[in-house]
Amino acid sequence: MGSDSTHRAEGEYARQSLQAPASMEAFWMPFTANRQFKARPRLLASAQGMYYRDVEGRQILDGAAGLWCCNAGHARERIVGAIQQQAATLDFAPTFQMGSPLPFVLAERLAEIAPPGLQHVFFTNSGSEAVDSAMKIALAYHRARGEGQRTKFIGREKAYHGVGFGGMSIGGLPNNRKWFGPLLAGVDHLRHTLDLQRNAFTPGLPKHGVELAEDLERLIALHDASTIAAVFVEPISGSAGVVLPPEGYLQRLREICDRHGILLVFDEVITGFGRVGKAFAAQRFGVTPDLMTTAKGLTNGSVPMGAVFVADAVHETFMHGPPGAIEFFHGYTYSGHPLACAAALATLDTYAEEQLFERAIELAGHWERAIQSLKGAPNVIDLRNFGLIGAIELAPREGAPGARGYEVFERAFHEGDLLVRVTGDTIALSPPLIIEPAQIERIVNVLGETIRKVE
Ligand code: PLP
Repeated sequence: MGSDSTHRAEGEYARQSLQAPASMEAFWMPFTANRQFKARPRLLASAQGMYYRDVEGRQILDGAAGLWCCNAGHARERIVGAIQQQAATLDFAPTFQMGSPLPFVLAERLAEIAPPGLQHVFFTNSGSEAVDSAMKIALAYHRARGEGQRTKFIGREKAYHGVGFGGMSIGGLPNNRKWFGPLLAGVDHLRHTLDLQRNAFTPGLPKHGVELAEDLERLIALHDASTIAAVFVEPISGSAGVVLPPEGYLQRLREICDRHGILLVFDEVITGFGRVGKAFAAQRFGVTPDLMTTAKGLTNGSVPMGAVFVADAVHETFMHGPPGAIEFFHGYTYSGHPLACAAALATLDTYAEEQLFERAIELAGHWERAIQSLKGAPNVIDLRNFGLIGAIELAPREGAPGARGYEVFERAFHEGDLLVRVTGDTIALSPPLIIEPAQIERIVNVLGETIRKVE
């Protein structure tokens, strides 16, 4: 094909990004009320630093890091340059029985910031794929050790582990499960740890609820330890409306898993890469899992990528088969994609150079005071915060759960020029870690005003 017909003017697609599309019919939007959205769209056109600009030219403060992704803010020059240069240097290379340098370089860099003993990395393209990959690693690990009967998984109510059949099955959000048949067999769930009666308006970690970890002992007794492969938890869950672990809870899960030879998996897709003031929540909470799933902040949201961090002992188990034999029959065409690797390396450099993980700790006190200042606002029934995560839980309207939360979200966007995330009646907050104190004030002021308006 002649290059003239395929080579378009530079910027043509970017220019299309700046204006509303001629038709919105064909795109079936994910996790969206399509008809409602298309009747009154919210279309983001460009982004820089802490702000989006929408197709109408309004500047929107990003209180959500996109979707828990852009921890270093938007369109960071180093990341943009890395992607552009990599696309022109090596656009794609297979990683099945072939290699290219960047995935190796990136895995070493990730091992440097990982919790001790989690020094091996398996690349995916998303959090959902990371979760399903971790489930398969857990199954194959036990089988390689002669414990192939360990096929069951324990998840948790209210958990979100993405949308693959594995992740959906160990997840605990009824709406995400109920349409899709019997799901994966052999999965059971711990109770969630959200307890407004005892913990409402507690700044930081909930004081009550560590005993909920004993649920695991109950399920182990029910299923028999020898049948259980792994326990999956989000150290802090986001999609369920920010559920925090009670003090001591994760430590207790670790102890119980150790006692029964069960792998503990932390799903750090939202907590990874600085959100709670350390590279990973595992380090912040002082609990090291056997597998850790990540995505989002890994590339600052710029190119899709996920990664499973694997304990050395787990990885080692795979490395004893016959020479020449593939150790793990699993992978994705785009595992370790060169563009994603370049984006991730530039992202890690940006985090390190600007000390953004430390910044999340420095700002956490200010953040906590700002979030908790909304106590007393109409219909606010709980306020939660940890690191640079926040949640404002509103009382549901009678007979219309989620309606009040959605209205706050929509009005904050249209009237307050603020992007937040809504799940049910909870407003979830996760700003880029480059946020300035004045922008924290603005988030809280806009939300305070909006909550009063929708009373
Ligand atoms: N796991 C957790 C804890 C998440 O919060 C998410 C997404 O929000 C996922 C998995 C799924 O990630 P993805 O949407 O990249 O598949």
